Amino acid sequence: MTKSKAILIGAGLANMAAAVYLIQEGHWQGDQITFYSIDDHGSNDGSPANEAAGEYWNKVHPLENTKGFVARGGRMLNYRTYVDLMDLLSRVPSATEPGMTAAEDTREFDANHRTFDKARLMEGGKGIINGGKLGFNNKDRMKLTELLLMPDSKEEKLDNVTIADYFKDDPHMFTTNFWYMWETTFAFRTQSSAQELRRYMHQMIYEFTQIEHLVGVNRTRYNQYESIMLPLINYLKEQGVKIVLNRRVTNFEFKDTPMQDEITVTALRMTNTETGEEEDVAVDDDTAVIFTNGSITDSATLGDFNTPAAENMDYGAAASLWKKATNRFYNLGNPDKFFNDRNASEWIS
Ligand SMILES: Cc1cc2nc3c(=O)[nH]c(=O)nc-3n(C[C@H](O)[C@H](O)[C@H](O)COP(=O)(O)OP(=O)(O)OC[C@H]3O[C@@H](n4cnc5c(N)ncnc54)[C@H](O)[C@@H]3O)c2cc1C
Repeated sequence: MTKSKAILIGAGLANMAAAVYLIQEGHWQGDQITFYSIDDHGSNDGSPANEAAGEYWNKVHPLENTKGFVARGGRMLNYRTYVDLMDLLSRVPSATEPGMTAAEDTREFDANHRTFDKARLMEGGKGIINGGKLGFNNKDRMKLTELLLMPDSKEEKLDNVTIADYFKDDPHMFTTNFWYMWETTFAFRTQSSAQELRRYMHQMIYEFTQIEHLVGVNRTRYNQYESIMLPLINYLKEQGVKIVLNRRVTNFEFKDTPMQDEITVTALRMTNTETGEEEDVAVDDDTAVIFTNGSITDSATLGDFNTPAAENMDYGAAASLWKKATNRFYNLGNPDKFFNDRNASEWIS
């Protein structure tokens, strides 16, 4: 059934992109699109630290130093892989550079500020070492090549296989300069999934030849809030899109059908994270509900120089909502695989 309205759960990059394409390619009306999201910077920074100090995920340990901004790192991309992102950014004006699209803004800045890391690896007593020597032996080369060339149809072989398992006969791999650079560039640990490593290698294959100086990395002018999210937010608001913040969607109501097998959302339950009140939003037949089923930021916690980031073992907002949907429909994936084993999935930046 063709629909003309949309509700998007979460205001991250993926949903912002969905809204831009619905408007520009699908010719949907902006005022028929509504976002409900926990906050405007869960993924998208931009807020001063004093705003983040009392956030729901940080109440136990209020930030000590609230003078600066929350910045979760510089934004790294590479044009040859991030074709979709650059297409998206070419569709919206820059938030800070008059007369430029957000894509032109990044290209202009990056062209004038090329990345060239001079010290990717250091070793005790030696100082900077030459990362260009990747340090492989033949076994490493064989195992890596096998992983890279594995066809998608065989990827199931890597179900439940960690990177450590995959290289169990080849511990040398973890002492190579290549591994030290790859794991720190892409936040891998040996307990991460070998499938994920394979997919990342496909996606980031261009970095193999330049990982020792990161010359292929392109960077945005500011952090992801100013350079990526704000252009999208400004554009969408201009189009009449409603972005309702401080709402945590906690459950779906689904249509009752005889076989209970139709995945049609009829209502959303949400908590107003400012007032604590529960709200229900009805979803009519003409409305599509779009939800990205994981979030790398919704359960992130912040620390400071004297306080470690508080550990929160709860499933994040996106994961717990996904789990609720899978309780009813068996064919919507297995969130526990991604969120149940903290040690296997967490990373630190
Ligand atoms: C520290 C760090 C550094 C990174 N560096 C890079 C980098 O350099 N380059 C790069 O390409 N990628 C990087 N990433 C990854 C990148 O940020 C993510 O891939 C991207 O943000 C994913 O977008 P998304 O829209 O899918 O999800 P998210 O950005 O996670 O957005 C989802 C949004 O939905 C909200 N939400 C979730 N569930 C609910 C709910 N139930 N109700 C209401 N709202 C909800 C969340 O709070 C969040 O705001 C980095 C990530 C982190 C954490």
